[in-house]
Amino acid sequence: MLLDLHFPPSLHSELCETVGLELEPSPEAEQLSGARRQRDRRMRELVLTAYEYRCAFCGYDGRIGAVPVGLEAAHVRWWAFGGPDDVENGLCLCSLHHKLFDRGVLGVGDGRRILVSQGFVGHSPAAHQHVIALAGRPLVGPQPGTRPVAAAHRDWHAHQVFHGEPRPATAA
Ligand SMILES: [Zn+2]
Repeated sequence: MLLDLHFPPSLHSELCETVGLELEPSPEAEQLSGARRQRDRRMRELVLTAYEYRCAFCGYDGRIGAVPVGLEAAHVRWWAFGGPDDVENGLCLCSLHHKLFDRGVLGVGDGRRILVSQGFVGHSPAAHQHVIALAGRPLVGPQPGTRPVAAAHRDWHAHQVFHGEPRPATAA
């Protein structure tokens, strides 16, 4: 219940591991998460369609057969903090970038440009390519005629979740 009230689902397993908890879902919790999953499913479709089934940060668009795989609808303002299930509060993100967004490594700044925290460190080519090189790039999507992330939700994330100062934009 604490997890549901205060944190997005993408962080639950990591938090439990950190404090050494194993979760056994109670029947009530299962009912709750069932209701929640249904809410999320509608938002998921709207957000993934708005972003044309591509990660808004890196453009990843993997499918297995016809089914998108590794793509998720992220809440910008966390659901636990009054974030609505709405396209204006959503981003289509790949699993890696969803996790990094919820951990405050990535954010969205003015002009819908990607923010990368100075606190993030990674020396491998993969860390550079998938994270550091994103600094200052414009978001991928949403398609014309759909609503981008509302400034109020973007600001909430920038102040409450994003970690420290953003890195300067990397030269292309
Ligand atoms: Zn991505």
